[in-house]
Amino acid sequence: PSFDQRDGVIWYDGEMVPWSEANVHVLTHGLHYASAVFEGERAYGGKIFKLDEHTRRLHESARLLDFEIPYSVEEINAACNALLREQGFEDAYVRPIAWRGSEMMGVSAQQNKIHLAIAVWDWPSYFDPAQRLKGIRLDIAEYRRPDPRTAPCKSKAAGLYMICTISKHAAEKKGYADALMFDWRGYVAEATGANIFFVKDGVLHTPTPDCFLDGITRRTVIELAQRRGYELVERHIKPEELDDFEQCFICGTAAEVTPVSEIGPHSFTPGEITLTLMNDYTKEVRPAKAEPQKQMAAAIS
Ligand code: PMP
Repeated sequence: PSFDQRDGVIWYDGEMVPWSEANVHVLTHGLHYASAVFEGERAYGGKIFKLDEHTRRLHESARLLDFEIPYSVEEINAACNALLREQGFEDAYVRPIAWRGSEMMGVSAQQNKIHLAIAVWDWPSYFDPAQRLKGIRLDIAEYRRPDPRTAPCKSKAAGLYMICTISKHAAEKKGYADALMFDWRGYVAEATGANIFFVKDGVLHTPTPDCFLDGITRRTVIELAQRRGYELVERHIKPEELDDFEQCFICGTAAEVTPVSEIGPHSFTPGEITLTLMNDYTKEVRPAKAEPQKQMAAAIS
């Protein structure tokens, strides 16, 4: 069903509102001027992975757009958890969004109320599961990630997704699953909703996140790679280097760890490092189930 016609509730400015009634007016600043920031989180086994980090980033995204969300990090965390329970999901995608309301219309929005809504829904796999293991195919986007002097590139701001949607549509029209975007200088940056890693001679390479989101999944993957003792280099990657890499994968909350088989004319084969990190990520996000023996010991002690 369409996203405005579902069952259940949406957390909206502090209340649980029936899903189809969680609306905004057409004269909403956030809609006209993209004064909106959001998050994308995943719950696994009833627990939202790195919830606190996501909520802190939401606050920071809003601050970069010159507004303050009228709920504390703790209140937002509690709201996400309450909603997840209310909706009865174990595994789900969680989408908080904050935006400027309708009190003023025009570029200036000094008096506009800041709203916050949270929705959760079932979103099993961002990419076709049948394709995922073989690797997805990426187009090369025409648009580039903007210069940090041009846009608040560290904010997960709705407005920054305009070029991502255009790029993803162009890629899908050509039969690709997604697009790789270069940055304003021409270095490899990220996919339209995920960060990117490469492997060459057993070493991981990933672009320095100096003008795009340093994803929470990206940081998790770096930690997992370190635990495995893999060598990892964070650096500027030139497009002409794409031919030299053997493996490639993208990662993000929605995409998780997804191998890439092609970027335009360049091809890659998902190999051991990619598949190991993919599995390690799957294990990392699931809350550990206490073993029966340990539970028993805990009960006794
Ligand atoms: N880059 C972009 C443009 C994204 O939309 C996302 C998804 N939020 C990411 C990177 C990955 O971020 P995260 O791992 O925090 O989900």
